This record gives sequence, C-alpha cells and structure tokens, in this order.
Amino acid sequence: MITPHEPLPSPAVSLDLDLIRKHSIPGPRYTSYPPATKFTADQESYELEDAIDEDNRAGSGPISLYFHLPFCETRCWFCGCNTVITKRRASAGEYLDDLAREMRLTAARMDTSRPVTQIHFGGGTPTFFPPEELRRLGALISEIFPNREDGCEFSVEIDPRRLTLEHVEALRDIGANRASLGVQDTNPRVQLAIHRHQPHYMNERAFAWLRANGFRSINVDLIFGLPLQTPETFTKTIDDVLGLDPDRLSVFSYAHVPWIKPAQKIFDDREQLPDAEQKLAMFAAAHVKLTGAGYIDVGLDHFAKPGDELAIALRQGTLHRNFQGYSTRGGASLYSFGVSSISSTGDSYRQNLKTLEEWRAALDAGRLPTERGLRLSDEDLRRREIIMRLMCDRRLDFDALTRSLRVDFRKRYAAEIASLADLEADGIVVCTPDTVTVTALGAPLLRVVAMRFDPTLTAGATQHSRTI
Ligand code: SF4
Repeated sequence: MITPHEPLPSPAVSLDLDLIRKHSIPGPRYTSYPPATKFTADQESYELEDAIDEDNRAGSGPISLYFHLPFCETRCWFCGCNTVITKRRASAGEYLDDLAREMRLTAARMDTSRPVTQIHFGGGTPTFFPPEELRRLGALISEIFPNREDGCEFSVEIDPRRLTLEHVEALRDIGANRASLGVQDTNPRVQLAIHRHQPHYMNERAFAWLRANGFRSINVDLIFGLPLQTPETFTKTIDDVLGLDPDRLSVFSYAHVPWIKPAQKIFDDREQLPDAEQKLAMFAAAHVKLTGAGYIDVGLDHFAKPGDELAIALRQGTLHRNFQGYSTRGGASLYSFGVSSISSTGDSYRQNLKTLEEWRAALDAGRLPTERGLRLSDEDLRRREIIMRLMCDRRLDFDALTRSLRVDFRKRYAAEIASLADLEADGIVVCTPDTVTVTALGAPLLRVVAMRFDPTLTAGATQHSRTI
C-alpha cells in the first residue's frame, strides 16, 4: 500500500524507453483475474443460479450495475468493443424492452434492497438511445433497484458526435454525474483513416453541456498507435484535449488484433500504422505532456488531476480495478445487463451471450442470457488478490498477504517471487525479504510484473495486445 500523502514519483524521471522496449510483451490488462479469455461455456461448471443466490444471502453488501448499450451508427475501424451497427432508431426501444426483461429476471433472484453504489452505461454508444429512452432506462433502474446510495457514482460513455443537450439533461435527471468522452485523436487525417469524423468543436460543446449540467468528473479517452498518427500529431491531440481541462484521461495503446476484429484488417492493407518505435515515442510524449501538465499517472493508461478521486485513491492505497479499468469503489457485487456484458459476484464471473439474436432468444425462453463464465478456485481467488494488489498498490506486502490469503505467502509463491530477479536487476521492482515494490521506472510495466503471478498465460499466446 502506498503511504497516504507520500509524494508520487516525479514523472519526468519515470520513463526509460529502453526498459519498455526490452520488457513490453503481450499480456492481459487485468480488469479481471483470470482474464475473460479463460471463461468456459460449460454452464454446469459455473453454477449460474447458485452464484447469484450465494451473493444475495442476508447481509450481502452493495451492488454495482453495468448496462451495455451496444448500438453505433457507424463503425470506427479500430474498435474492439462489442457493437451493433445500425441507424435504425427503433432498435433502442426494442432493446430496452429486452433489457427490462433481463433486469427483472435477475432481480427476482436478488435482494434488491441492497444499496447501489455505482452505475455505468457503456457501449457501443449509450447516446444512440434517444433522451426519452434514457429516461425510461433510468426509471427502470430506480424501480427495480430502489436503494441508490447518496453519492452513487453514475458514469456514462459519451460519443460527442451523437450527443445533444437533451441527452445531457436526460442523463442528469436520471442521476448521471460522470462522463467519459471518446475523443481518440483530433487530427482530421487520422480521423479519416479510422472512419471517425469528429471536429474538435463537438468535444468542446460536449464539455460545455456536461459542465453546465453538473457532471463532476469528465474523462477523455485517447488512443495512440492509430493509422497516420505521428508523435507530432499525437502531441497536438493532447494539447487540444488539455484545452478542455478534463479531470481524467485514459491514453490507450491501440490493440491491433485483426484476427479477432476483422475491420482492423484495412489498416494492414493500407500500411498506415505507425511502427513500434513511433508508438513508443507517442506513449512517451503523452506521459511527459500529461504529467508535465500536473496530471498524476494513476497506472497503466490512466491519468488524473491530483485532486480527482482516482489520484487520491492511489495516494491512499484504496484504488480498485474492475472491468472499466481503475475505480475508487471496491467490494461491490457487479451485476451487468445487455449483450456480452460481464457480471462479477463473489467467486463467480458470468458473461452474457454476444449477439442480439442469441441474447433475445434466451430471454424469450425465460432464462438468464448467460453464455459462459467461471467459478474461481481458492487458488484463483488468491492469485486475483495478488494481481489486484500489484495493479492497484504497486506493492506486495508478504505478511499482509499471508494474513489475508491464509497461506504462507513467501513459501507458496517462492517461485514467482524468485522469477522477478531479472525485473529487479533492471530496476523495475525492488525486492526485500518482506515486500516487492514496483518502482517509478517500472510503473509503465505494471502488468508485466503481474504476469509473473499468472499461471494461466501460455508462452507465445497472441490473444492479448502488447503492454505498450
Ligand atoms: S463509436 Fe465507440 S463503440 Fe462505436 S464503433 Fe466507434 S469506438 Fe466502437
């Protein structure tokens, strides 16, 4: 755990590109452990109904709700999300009818008096839904899960191209108080190459509407490694975005996985992708620019203003990680609704069917639309805790882990601790008889450290993107 109020590492000295070149390898982002690639379609093995029942025994704690709203009007060619491309507006209302069925089916097995601590609308494009449909979804949530906590963190992913003031007012009225804007890149040539035309005035307008309507934290998503990007153009994008004064930024490395996302093949055909060195230079430019502007490197791709809850949670050692990335709220059971969404309760993960047709057919048959999942073994649960401590605290305290995991940590994980020797020699971690600490230089390689504790990885596996 990082000591409260301990000064964070100086950003300007915390990048060593040679180190990143040497150690950056494909790996999971650890928004869950085991990663979703390990879920199984063997329904009996994850005991769906039992998992929900167990999570709702008397005295169970707060819940977090996720809604996957999958529609987009056009496809951005880099996109890795589960989306349905359509311009047919009626799709939204029909989808909401089915979402209501799924919510009621699930809620029938739940203690719905549990406090709701977090709500998230993800996509797709949540504002594909007309304002009146967003209001209907808000009313459904309040009706089915009536015990919303004061200060409930309610965030929405926003595509500034598909936003009106009426959307913002509807979101405000149903309780949304945080927004995450997909900007990606402000350069018109890059936008043309990725099939996403988004003049910067749209971003400025979205910020103005959201601020005027009381949204208290606004995040911007950027991606580096896209076609036609150069370190210079990406630096200009960052300058444009800094002009918006966001509270947080997520600066993702583009994951080129055309064998999973065929739309990305066009980037290979056109040979417009920057090479690894250019990509690294963009990462460095973003890091230097953002930390130079006073943002704190929260970990992986996340930056936040020092006064933002995320940066405070990092300082106080209370950071958590969930399917949306870093979070200040932990300990809640996650119930997710909509195609392909993933729920996480107790020792269970469950993912919904991925196509509209299959998801809807399951609901028509009166059953929960789950496709695959996982019941974590005791060993999985221990590994999950170790990896989450590394990703959130950047530190392992062997005595604390021995107590919380109820095993002799040093003995049980001796091989994993020993495997860190090369990372220690390169200054990525510091090992003592009682701790492992990721250094400031090692912070960009956090997930490489975590991978040493992950036995699910197979050598040479290519289903993950590179660390940077
Ligand atoms: S709008 Fe967002 S979810 Fe939709 S295709 Fe583009 S990046 Fe993907």
